[in-house]
Formats: sequence, C-alpha cells, structure tokens
Amino acid sequence: MNGKEEYRFRTARETMVADLVSRGVLCNPSVIQAFLKVPRHLFLDEALRDRAYQDQPLPIGNGQTISHPSTVAGMTELLDIRPGSRILEIGTGTGYQAAILAELAGKVFSIETIVNLARKARKILEHLGYYSIRMKTGDGSRGWPDSAPFDRIVVSAGTQVIPPKLIGQLTDGGRMVVPIGSRDTQVITSVIRDGSNLTIQEHDRCRFVDLVGKYGWPADPGHSGGRNGD
Ligand code: SAH
Repeated sequence: MNGKEEYRFRTARETMVADLVSRGVLCNPSVIQAFLKVPRHLFLDEALRDRAYQDQPLPIGNGQTISHPSTVAGMTELLDIRPGSRILEIGTGTGYQAAILAELAGKVFSIETIVNLARKARKILEHLGYYSIRMKTGDGSRGWPDSAPFDRIVVSAGTQVIPPKLIGQLTDGGRMVVPIGSRDTQVITSVIRDGSNLTIQEHDRCRFVDLVGKYGWPADPGHSGGRNGD
C-alpha cells in the first residue's frame, strides 16, 4: 500500500473516531487512542477496505461478520480495561477487536472456533507486531481454563445465557461484556463479579453471529447466524 493510500485510510479512521466521540460512544482517552491507532482496513479483504471506516458490519468469510465500529467501541468502553489487565476474548474473527484490546491491556487471550479465520487473524496480528496476544483455535464457550482467571472477558458472538464456565474464569471484581438474547437480536450485557454476587446491566440492542459450541447455540445449518450482524 502506498503512502497516499495510507494517508486516505488514516484520514477516514480519524473521521470515524471523531464521529464516535461526537455521538458519545467513545469517551475514554486511551480507548480513543486505540481506535485511532489500529488500522481496521488491514483486517478486511481488499475488496472491502474502502468501507472499513463506515459504521457498518462487514463480512469476514466463513459466514461470519465483523461488528459495527460503534459496537466494538461501546463494548470496549464497557469493559473499563486497566493497563496490565488480563483479557479473554471469545471470537477472534479478523483479530481487529483483539488488537484494540492489546492496545489497552497487559495480555490478551483470544479464541476462535473457525481454523481459517484464526489463521488469517494470526497472520495480520503478527504482521502488525501484536505479540502480547495469545491465540488458540477451539470452543471458547468453555473459556480458557488453563490461563484463567481473567480480569475482563468479552464475548464477540451472541448467546442465549451467560456462558456458565466464563463466570468461573473471572477474577473477583472482574467484568464480562456479552451479547445476550435470541439468535436474531441481543442486548449488550455487562456482568460484574463481586465474590459470588453478579451485578448485571443491560445496554444497547445488537445483532451478532451465533456463539456456537458446548455452551452456545446448537449447530443449525439452516440458520444464517446473523448475516446482517452488528
Ligand atoms: N471480534 C471479531 C468479530 C467476531 S465475529 C473481530 O474483531 O473481527 C464472531 C466470531 O465468533 C466468529 O468468527 C465466530 O466463528 C466466532 N465464534 C462463534 N462461536 C465461537 C466459540 N464457541 N468459540 C470461539 N469462537 C467462536
């Protein structure tokens, strides 16, 4: 990519961030810096790069979608990440959200169930130098028990209930953000763990692809899995 193109993408990114700030979606200065820094267009297929900084979901292959930038921004703000936090992400997809998390946290663990997507994400994250992200392919609805507990958990796919294994992998005082609802529509939900108590708050409506796996939706070949996803 030449310098002129890079400049065009950087300007588009700055316009996107200014819009998210003016709408009150982005507030935290470090989250704003992360959104200014991570080149969202590089996580997409070349044919879609011109749409990377519009506030819309885009296809990423294998029937999956990357969420609206405003959804990723809103969820990242809700996570309230501290420097040094250990974060678990379920649903690596392109790796874009993992890169945003890596800008803010100490260590990021990210799980993707589709081998092809995990492979592409690893390639771009390595190319951009995000060495603090550990990735694995597998069923993230079970969490990542060997590396638990986590200060923050973000689920980038929709589920009917809070995946029970993930609660057990949160630190005391830890926080999880997860889209909960039906297959067609969910509500971004934040869960804060205080000992054995959970404080649960509902936020914006959204539409994510399915969280599959043992504690997710059963495989249903007839379902689009939120093709018009958030
Ligand atoms: N955060 C991503 C977008 C995620 S799309 C990004 O920034 O690009 C949701 C992803 O969740 C899809 O790639 C899907 O394959 C994955 N997924 C669904 N169920 C999963 C599970 N049980 N474990 C891991 N990944 C899962």
